[in-house]
Order: sequence, then C-alpha cells, then structure tokens
Amino acid sequence: MNSLSNFFYPKAICIPGASTKEKSIGYELLKTIKAYGYKGKVFPVNPKAEDILGYKCYHAIEEINDAIDLAIVVVPKQFAEPTVESLLKKNVKSIILITAGFKEIGKEGEALEKRILNKIKTTGARMVGPNCMGVINTLDEIKLNATFVAERPEIGAIGFLSQSGALGAAVLNSLRETDIKFAHFISVGNKADINENDILNFWQNDNNIKTITCYLESFVNGEEFVVPFIRGEISKPIIVLKAGKTESGMKAASSHTGALSSNDKIIDALLKQFGIIRAEDLNELFNTAKGFESFPLPKGKRIAVITNAGGPAILCIDKIEKEGLKLATFSDETMKKLKEIVNSEGSVANPVDLLPGGNPEIYKRVNEIVINDESVDAVISIFVEPVMVPPFEVIESVYSIDSKKPILQVAMPLPEFWSKYRNESLKKLPLFRNPEDPAEILSNMYFYMKQKKKLQENRAQYVEAIEKKESNNNGLPAGFLSHEQLYKICSEYKLPIVKQNLIKPEELKNYEAENYPLVIKGINKNVVHKSELDAVKLNIKSKEEFLLKAREIEDSFAKNNLFVDEFLIQPFITIKHELLIGGFRDPSFGPVIMFGSGGKYVEVFDDTSIRSCYLCDTDIDEMIDETKIGKILKGVRGEMPVNIKALKEIIKSCTTMMAENQNIAEFDLNPLILGVDNIFYAVDVRIKIY
Ligand code: ADP
Ligand code: MG
Repeated sequence: MNSLSNFFYPKAICIPGASTKEKSIGYELLKTIKAYGYKGKVFPVNPKAEDILGYKCYHAIEEINDAIDLAIVVVPKQFAEPTVESLLKKNVKSIILITAGFKEIGKEGEALEKRILNKIKTTGARMVGPNCMGVINTLDEIKLNATFVAERPEIGAIGFLSQSGALGAAVLNSLRETDIKFAHFISVGNKADINENDILNFWQNDNNIKTITCYLESFVNGEEFVVPFIRGEISKPIIVLKAGKTESGMKAASSHTGALSSNDKIIDALLKQFGIIRAEDLNELFNTAKGFESFPLPKGKRIAVITNAGGPAILCIDKIEKEGLKLATFSDETMKKLKEIVNSEGSVANPVDLLPGGNPEIYKRVNEIVINDESVDAVISIFVEPVMVPPFEVIESVYSIDSKKPILQVAMPLPEFWSKYRNESLKKLPLFRNPEDPAEILSNMYFYMKQKKKLQENRAQYVEAIEKKESNNNGLPAGFLSHEQLYKICSEYKLPIVKQNLIKPEELKNYEAENYPLVIKGINKNVVHKSELDAVKLNIKSKEEFLLKAREIEDSFAKNNLFVDEFLIQPFITIKHELLIGGFRDPSFGPVIMFGSGGKYVEVFDDTSIRSCYLCDTDIDEMIDETKIGKILKGVRGEMPVNIKALKEIIKSCTTMMAENQNIAEFDLNPLILGVDNIFYAVDVRIKIY
C-alpha cells in the first residue's frame, strides 16, 4: 500500500485537541466527522473531557489501546510539538497538523515547523500541513469529512488539492450551487512534508480518482512536478489553478504561505508543454473537471452550436474563436435533414437557430443530426427559457442522446429549474450557466488530448532529454566563459559561432585583417552590454578606419573609467534577421530554453517563447511558430522561407548543452544573426557557469 493511503482511507482516527466548546475548531471538526457518517473508529483526545458528541474521549494519546491509522491534530500551537512526539511514540504514521502559526508567520514558526518535520522524518511517518484544513473522502467505504466545513459533499471522481485552507473552505461552502462532486479533497497548507507532487502520484494510482484539480500558490519543486508527465507516469487529466500571476499577486502569495513563487511565464509555458491544463479561475478549474468526468473527449476542434436565442450563441461563438476552436461546416445532407425540422425562419447552418419554438423533440432531433455529421467534433446546445417550452424536458431530451462525441448544454432557465434538475434528472450531467463555459471546457479537453498524444508519440525523445542530465563533468570554472572556452564549447555543440580573433590593445597596430569589412568590439569582463558603451563598431572597411574605431572604443571606455582588455574582431555580416536563443536554469523548474527576436531591442519587442529543455522536435517547431519572428522566418508574402531545419538543430543543440552541463547557469546567443546569405552566425555568445 502507498504510504499516503491512510490519509484518505483510515480505519481509525484520533483527534488530539478535540473540544467540548461549540464553535471551536476542535468541536466543529468532530461534529462534521460525525454528521458525515465516518465509517471507522474515532478517538478524540482532550485531557479534560470525558465525552464529546457521544464519542468517548481519551485524556492522553497513550491511553488509546487501538491502532491509529491517522491523527488529525487541532491542538493549540504550543502543544503541537509534544503532541506529535506522543503520536510518533504510539507509532502513528500519518499525521495531519491543522494547527496554524508556523512558517507562515515568520522565523520562529519556521523553526518549530522544521523541528516537528525532523521528528516525523526520523520515524518514517508522513505529515500533511501544518496550517491546513483537513481531508475529505466522500466514498461510501470511508465517508470521512475531517474539515470544519459542515457541508455534505457528494460522491464523485475528482481529486481536489488546495494549498489555501480558506479557498478550500470557500469551495466546500458553495458545493450546493456549483455541483462539484469529488472523491477526495485535501488541504496541504504549508506543505512541510507532503506536497502536490506526493498527492499527484497517489491520485494517479488511485482508481477512485479520474480527474485531478489543484489550487496552488507555489510549486515545491517544479522539475519534480513535470518530470512524471514527461515520463508518462501521470496519465490522468490535471487542471491547475495557480495563483500569484501578477506581480502584486505574487507578493500576496509569498506572505501567505512563506513560499516563493516561480516566474509565471515559465510556469505557463511548461504546464502547456506537458499537457497540464492551467485554469484562469475557479470556474474554469471545476467546469473543466466536470467536463472530463461527464463527457467523452472531443477528437477535433470543430464545434457545432445549437440555440434558440441569438445573443448567447454569439457569446459562445466568440469564445469558440478565442479558444482556437472552429465552427464546423455542416455537410449538405445534414442541412437537408435540418431543413425538415427547423422553422423556416430559423437557421440550419452553424449556428443552428431553432428560435423560441424549439421544443424538446426538435432539440433532440437536431442535436442527433448534428452530432452525427462527420465534420462535427462536439456540440454546444444552448437553451434560453422562453414562455411556452418546458426547460427540464429540453435538457433531459438532449442529454438522453447516446453519443461518442461530447454534447454540452448551456441552460439559462428560471431559478425554479435548478432544484428540479438536481432532484429529477436521470443522468444528472453537468449543465453550464454561461454560454462561454462549454467552449472553454472543450478547448481544455482537446488540448489535453493533443498534448497527451504529443507526449506519447515523442516519449523516446523526452526520456533521452531527461537522461542527458546524468552526464556532466566539463571542468569549466565559475563565472562567464572566456572567448577560448566559448569557442570550444560552441564547436562541441555545433553552435555557429562566427570566426573571430581576439587581440590585445597593443597588437592593434600590427594586426593585418584577412578580409574587410569587419567588426571590432571592445571587451572588458565588467561590460555586459557592449553597445551601451559604444563598443561595437560595424562595417569597417580599411585598416585606417579600423585603428580609428578602436581608438574611439578606448576613449569611450576611458570616459567610464574602464580599460579595453581585449578587442574582438569578426567579419561583418549583412543582416537579414536578428534572433535570440537563450537558456537558464530555473531554480524550481530546471533548465529552460528561450527563442525569439534578438538584437539590441529584445526587451522592447518581447517576442519570445519558452520551453523546458526536456523537449521534443515538435516542441521546437511550436516554439518557433509561437513567435512573430518565427512566422516571418517561415516566409510571409512571397518571401523565401529560411533554413528552418538548421535553426531547429541549433535550438536542439542548445538544449542538449544545457542538459548535459549542469553547471551552466545561463547562456545566450544574442544576436544569432541570419545573414542575407541564409546562414546563421552567432556573433555574441555568453555562457555563465555556476
Ligand atoms: P552587445 O549585445 O554586447 O551590445 P553585440 O555583439 O551583440 O553586442 O552587438 C550589438 C549589435 O551589433 C548586434 O545586435 C548586431 O546588430 C550588431 N553586430 C554585432 N556583431 C556583428 C557582426 N559580426 N556583423 C554584423 N552585425 C553585428
Ligand atoms: Mg548582444
């Protein structure tokens, strides 16, 4: 059995800190456990109480004679450490520390959290929390609601992990409106021991969980988070709502849990690369989970819309386009069949407009015809309640259709409808309240399917990329590499560094160039952006000009109290495009690679795309396609496309270099010039070693 199993499937629990005082957490928690009908044994612990809510209360953990699968600790903070010690002595291996006041409040709390964690680790026990709000298992065999939210969650197949207790509580509080049905809920709090990576792995292997949802404020270890996806060890759909997107949001996240958030752009790119769905808000998080739970995956992105009202259909279509889906084009046969049913004033093309007269039979027939059209991958059926048509019957008739393709319904009825639907619907499939929702869900499901396929088809390439990580011993010194070292490593990885000479200032006079025009650059290890010091002189045509420009560079350095250590001399390349390839090791997510527009104005253009260096050729293609410069390179308006194959090889080599040399902290080729001769030249390479 997995070591986390007792957190979700305990047969006996003890609750140190249980209380007789109403409204206290120690009381409310026990009350919830009882009300929800937990199937196992319950041992409340409180030195002063004899009985709480009908459970016999123990004065000390030592007094309990039974084996305990899970301890849920709600004692005040000053008793947390001795309580954990007693539990460990009693051989309890799974502990949820709900108590707050640890890392999230500062240094002192952090030290206490560490002490407790160390004790737990030495005994091989595991801990959830501290500063969390508990766990739920809705399944009949367990029926455990060990939170202080007195809702009665319904059984489903979603796993929901929340880093924030308050947000978890808010979601639980609104279950009756949102109809979210999960199998497991866990609030992980400060993630001192058990974190999202552990839970993900556990849920992947738990047959009761079909879809995984997470609210996260930080990733404990981003690389560990994504690697199981790369290796194909996680196959279930996972949807992440990651807070802390904007700068100010990030600050809130770090004061909230004491965790540092990684750069949002990287998170966005990597989740996408590995088929992890990122939701923008709670609505999208759970709607998407419902989609996976209740509907088949769409095989493509051609959507049909059926409606009885104009406005909602327009909103729906706008969203379809925004999500990158397409409106399907019906076959003539479909249109012919539709004409026989649809009111002649309505529309039989996509979107199909049934007008307010669309009744249950019409809705059903039309949905059946449309979903069976070969050119349709999914249907969104919208129903706004008009005066004469009964909403319940329309919704039920459409959801009675058996199809291998998804049909999602938007219902905009009068409020009375909802309780009737909840009580009387046969299939109880999810209904959506906003006409935009289904497009978002279908787009996420399609994305998941597409990325999963990409990962599967390219598994060998991905695994190879990860495994390159093992080899490393280049002996390179810390800091920026010298020009000789750059030359060596660039030729090793076949990066097209331009042919160049490095000379001392005193050698200028006797230097005889092989060819003009050339470029001369002033080098000083403290100067990062040479152009800012006017230290890059282009298109030099004669020895005379060469000496003059070198002098200008020396003068400019002198004005800044600097000396030119060396002069770098390169051929002058006639530029077609300036590109950028860069990379760095993200402290959380590991090596990442960047491609985009390059040159002096990179920041201004901000035209880059990012991927993990653990990538496949398709990722490189997508990376190029994502940027404006990539589109230009592939040829716009009759321009000849450039040698994309060569470019892809350079990018690939850069990722290999990053993966194989664990001590490269960052590097960039900026610019990588594409010359008018259609050849790539790296004229400014920088590599920094840890
Ligand atoms: P830095 O980035 O330190 O300012 P670079 O070596 O990248 O210096 O040069 C700045 C700009 O000068 C480049 O973006 C490019 O436009 C131009 N440049 C540099 N080297 C060459 C070269 N060998 N041929 C043509 N243009 C060059
Ligand atoms: Mg540069």
